Order: sequence, then C-alpha cells, then structure tokens
Amino acid sequence: MDLYEYQGKELFRRVGIPVSDGRLAANPLEAREAAQQLGCPVVVKAQVLTGGRGKAGGIKLATSPGEAEEHAKAILGLDIRGHVVRKLWVEKASDIAKEYYLSLTFDRGARMPLFIFTTQGGVEIEQVAEESPDALVRLHVHPLEGFRPWQARRLIYGAGLTDASEQKQIAAIISKLYDAFTRFDAMLCEINPLIVTPAGEVRALDSKFSVDDNALYRHPDVAEMRDLAAADPLEALAREKGVTYVKLDGEVGVLGNGAGLTMSTVDVVTFAGGRPANFCDLGGGGDAQGVVDALSVITRDPQVKAIFFNIFGGITRCDEVAKGILQALGEMGLELPIVVRLDGTNAEEGRRILRDAAPANLSVEPTMLEAAQKAVELAAA
Ligand code: GDP
Ligand code: MN
Repeated sequence: MDLYEYQGKELFRRVGIPVSDGRLAANPLEAREAAQQLGCPVVVKAQVLTGGRGKAGGIKLATSPGEAEEHAKAILGLDIRGHVVRKLWVEKASDIAKEYYLSLTFDRGARMPLFIFTTQGGVEIEQVAEESPDALVRLHVHPLEGFRPWQARRLIYGAGLTDASEQKQIAAIISKLYDAFTRFDAMLCEINPLIVTPAGEVRALDSKFSVDDNALYRHPDVAEMRDLAAADPLEALAREKGVTYVKLDGEVGVLGNGAGLTMSTVDVVTFAGGRPANFCDLGGGGDAQGVVDALSVITRDPQVKAIFFNIFGGITRCDEVAKGILQALGEMGLELPIVVRLDGTNAEEGRRILRDAAPANLSVEPTMLEAAQKAVELAAA
C-alpha cells in the first residue's frame, strides 16, 4: 500500500525525522485557511500516488493566502499521469540550499534492506543512477544484525559529506529511517529531496512510503490511511468484498482459483487471440458466496462480454465449486456467456452437476485451451 506524501510525513514525524509543518486541504478555501494558519510563504502540493509532481505543475509556491487559494484552484482536478488531484498538502515553505536523496528499500536479490544515499537529490534517482552511478552510495543492512551507527557513517562519508553538523543530523535521520522502515513494515521509504536549509537544518521535503499489504493487520492506524476513493472503483469494491481483482482492458472476464492458475488463464486467453478484462483470483474457496462476490465484481465492468471460469480442484473440490457456480448464477440472474473448465479433484462429478443443471449461457469445456478459445469466440460475437 502506497501512502500519500502527507501520510508518509506523518510516519516520519512519529519516528522523529524532521518535516515541515503543514495542513491538508480538499478545496481552495481550505488551502487559503491553511496558508493563513501556517504563515506564508507556503507550498501547495498535489497529493497523488505518483512522483514528478513538481514538473507536472502539481507543486506551487504561494506568498499569500490568496495566492495559495489560486494555486489550489489550479492544482485540484489536475490529471498527473492518470491520477486526478483531490487533496492538497499545504506546507510551510522551506528555503533550500542543498537537495540530497535518501532511501531504504528491499533488495530482493540480496534479501536485505538496502540504503541508497546521494548528495545529488531533487531529481529522479533513476536519472542519477544512469548519469552518475558513482554518486550513489549503497549499503545493505542485515535484518538479523539490525542497523548499526557505523552504517550511517559509511553512507555519509561515502557520499563525501564534510560538514559536521550535516553529518550529525543525517546520521540521525538514517537511523530513524531504519526505525520507520521496520516499525511500519515498509517496503520502501524514500526522501527526495532531503534538504539542507541555508541555516544548515536538514529536513525531509518529500516522502514516498510503501507499506507491506500483508502486514497491515499489525498497523490498523496505517491501514486506515488507505484512500478508497482514489483507487479504481472496481478494485475498491473488490477489496471491500475480499476479492483479489486487478482490472485489465480486454473483454474476457477471467476467474480462476489460485494466483498461479489465474495468471495462466490470463495468458491462455491472450494466446487464444482474446484480451483479458481482468485478473480475478477466487483464492482457496469455491463456495457460493465467494463466487457471487467475484462475479459481481467482474460483471460490474461493462467491457466484459464473456467470462472464463477456470478451476483446478485441489483442496477445493470441483463438485463444491460447481454447486457454488449454480447457486451464484441462480442468485444473480447473469446473462453473459460463461465458459467453465473444471479439472482436478472430483472434476467428473463437477462437470456432471453443471451439465445437468446449468443455464443455457453456461458451457463446460474439457481443457483450458478449448475453454479459452470458446470464451474468446463468445466475447467477440
Ligand atoms: P515530486 O516532484 O513529486 O518529487 O515532489 P517534491 O515534494 O519532491 O517537490 C519537487 C520539488 O519542488 C523539490 O525538489 C523542490 O525543488 C521543490 N519544492 C518543494 N517544496 C519546496 C519548498 O518548501 N521550498 C522550495 N523552495 N522548493 C520546494
Ligand atoms: Mn520528490
């Protein structure tokens, strides 16, 4: 789960990383009031889950509350690479002498968290990596040993920082960033830019914070930060119902059990010349409620013209799934063509149940490929 800048900064604040004072605003008037309360100048910042807001016109400096209001008008509703701005963070403006970069993320290859620090901040880190790779200092932290103060020193000296006060402040921030990363089960914590003010104060001017979805149960306060309105409405509905769903842009609705089989189903639909409308994993269960929930999400997408239901019975038996499908169809009164492929435990029994009682829009195919071909054909009809 990705957090907005202001939410990431809130977590930074909790671990003691210095950030600027700010207020959230959802409309121009609130932005004006925020500027009044904070005192000008302020920066008005678009809150969207994508970077490069500055270049896209999503970050503007205001020297008066009236100007903050005007900027808010211009930024709200702006489309930044597919993300529409609905919220603003109005922050006390900082004077910037230097812009550094600091991040902590997972290096999956090394199976360890990885710090990256460079004095060339402010721009995209990928650009720095390409143009001056030597400027990036990298350091792994062994998760069992944990973070040690010498690691901060290595990052700082490695980047060539010589100012004693900066060294001290940044060492503290590095250590606190590791705290934030472990305490909130983060996947990524990035500060770009980490600024030094003309007075020599170091502060996080931006935040990119990603928390492991699987750990959210341990952080109800962070889980609450999720912005359902910003997500794709179908994906939000799916999450509400506990359905694993990713919207794609084709016409064949895909429903499988298990992430691996569902991925293969997406592939085989493509192989058969069609385009999958979604990825939807029923998970381990195949009970009627699970099927109803998944189908109700899939069919909410008007692009879906046919549904391919691909089930491999393991622990979930095919006869149970077949009953679930029938019960779900009975409850929903679905008219779209549905192609079912059942295999695995009790597949024979499951197919028989479907053949005996299935409505006319449901057909059963013996193999995954044949089922995919049929679904693609029906979607095109
Ligand atoms: P991003 O473009 O989405 O990464 O957003 P940032 O929060 O990193 O802001 C982009 C740039 O705007 C920064 O690198 C700064 O140069 C500038 N900026 C942001 N906040 C301030 C501020 O308080 N004062 C000044 N002078 N510039 C700022
Ligand atoms: Mn940034």
